[in-house]
Amino acid sequence: MYFDTHTHVNFAAFKEDADEVIGRSLKEETWMINVGTQIDTSRAAAFLSAKHPQGVFAAIGLHPVHTWAQMLDEEESRFNTREEYFDTSKYQSMLTEKVVAIGECGLDYFRIPKDSNQEAVISKQKAAFIAQIAFAKKNNLPLIIHCRDAYEDVLQILKTEYPRGPGIIHSFTDTWETAKKFLDFGFYVALNGILIFDKTGKLAEVVEKTPLDRLLTETDAPYLTPPPFRGKRNEPSYVQYVAQQMAKIKRVDLAEVANQTFHNALNLFKIQA
Ligand SMILES: [Zn+2]
Ligand SMILES: [Zn+2]
Repeated sequence: MYFDTHTHVNFAAFKEDADEVIGRSLKEETWMINVGTQIDTSRAAAFLSAKHPQGVFAAIGLHPVHTWAQMLDEEESRFNTREEYFDTSKYQSMLTEKVVAIGECGLDYFRIPKDSNQEAVISKQKAAFIAQIAFAKKNNLPLIIHCRDAYEDVLQILKTEYPRGPGIIHSFTDTWETAKKFLDFGFYVALNGILIFDKTGKLAEVVEKTPLDRLLTETDAPYLTPPPFRGKRNEPSYVQYVAQQMAKIKRVDLAEVANQTFHNALNLFKIQA
C-alpha cells in the first residue's frame, strides 16, 4: 500500500475525470488526502472524501498565496477565490470524520508580487497561519504546512504556537538541518517528485538521515510530475515513484518504505485501515 498524503484531485485540472483518477489510484493500492487551498477547493476535497467509502480523505485550509493582497497567476485566479482572512465558521461547517487535517497553510514568500507591500502581505499570511494553528488545535487535527522561502519564520511561529505538533512539513525542499528542527517539533517530513529531480543531494541527505517512521510520500498532483511521466499531469498513483526513490536512497526494499510510510500516514491522521 502507498499513501499520497498531499494531492489535489479536488482542483480544476481533474474536473473531467476525478473519479477515474481516484479509481486508478485505489486500484494501484494508493490512498490519498486531497488538500484544500481555500474555501472552494476545501469543499471539493471534503466532497470527494464523502463520495468514496475507503481510501480518500480530505484536508481543509487556506493556502498562503490565497490570502488577501496576493496576486494569483492567471491560471489559478480563474478557479480560485481570494480570502481576506481564515473564516473559522466557514471551515468548521466542512468538518466530517473524513476530514483528517487542517491545511495547506503556512507561509510563501516566493510568490509575493514585487510591486506589493511586502510587509502587509507577510503579516496577512502570518495571521492566517496562526488562525489555522488554533483551529487545528481546537479540533484536535494535525496541520499540513506549506512553506516556500520562509522556513525560518515558519519555525519561529511553530516555536511559540505549536511546539509539539502534530503535523507535516509538505513538499520539503530545505536542508537536513532544517528538517531536523521540524522533527524536533514532532513533525513528519513529506517529499514528492522534487526528490527525484533534485541534483544537489540535499534532499537525498534529508531522506537518508530522517528515520523511516517520520517520512511521508506525496505527489502534490497535478504539479511536480516525476519521471517517467514528466511533462504530463501528475496523479496520486505516481506516488510509488517517490517511494522507490526513498528506498534507493535508504538502501531498503520498496515494500518496506511503502508499508512504513503508509502506516505513518494512518498514525498521524488517526485513520483505521
Ligand atoms: Zn503546497
Ligand atoms: Zn499543495
